Amino acid sequence: MTTRKQIVAGNWKMHMTREPAVALATKLVDGLRDGGDVEVVVIPPTCLLTDVRRVIEASPIALGAQNLHPAVQGAFTGEVSAPMLRSIGCTYVLCGHSERRQHFGDTPEWVGEKVAAAHRDGLTPILCVGETLDEREAGRTEAVVEAQLTAGLAKLDRDQVAQTVVAYEPVWAIGTGRNASPEQAQEVHAFIRARLRERHGDAVADRVRVQYGGSVKPDNAARLLAQPDIDGALVGGASLDAESFLNIVAAAR
Ligand code: PEP
Repeated sequence: MTTRKQIVAGNWKMHMTREPAVALATKLVDGLRDGGDVEVVVIPPTCLLTDVRRVIEASPIALGAQNLHPAVQGAFTGEVSAPMLRSIGCTYVLCGHSERRQHFGDTPEWVGEKVAAAHRDGLTPILCVGETLDEREAGRTEAVVEAQLTAGLAKLDRDQVAQTVVAYEPVWAIGTGRNASPEQAQEVHAFIRARLRERHGDAVADRVRVQYGGSVKPDNAARLLAQPDIDGALVGGASLDAESFLNIVAAAR
């Protein structure tokens, strides 16, 4: 069996201004002199990426962006492209976060374009998938997750699929304080891995890291991360507090 390195990422969403962002990044660097076996990523708002990069650049912490436009450049006011993100030190980018799908019209196919664009320009996409509460209650969790996964990975070759990070984030658990139980999460993670195995083979399925996201906190992280198909966490609210985030990273170790 392949061992997958756990990956814990903090999505700061549209929070903070320059000074608190630099202070938070500084505390993370101080608390994380050595990443150990865990890959740690911070994902600040776009306008703060460069300031945060200056703080973390000599540390094991990687930098991610929250979104990108699939084109390389062009008349797309307000957007940023993968080469732009690369040029300021990003190595990761979120694609298809449920808040983008919900508020900004990101369709599964559009997310697939973003994922492909990320790979084209040397970024690792974190492809977010997950069902709403209505979809779960209607027994559609697997159908929804499968459709998002298929469209999200549609334009990739095998190697690119293997290097993609998938984040399973049940929409009903994001920012609600109500996390999926470890068993509920593991069930969907195992489903995702089985679909990857079916479509892309064992070598790919064994390499893809599948993070769980949705109200991960220091007190529930260890049980979630102990599940066999959970390879890390995508953390929203708790990533805004250095101690909480560092405790989640410690749980991943
Ligand atoms: C997220 O934004 O991806 C997330 C999981 O948020 P929270 O941890 O606050 O639920």
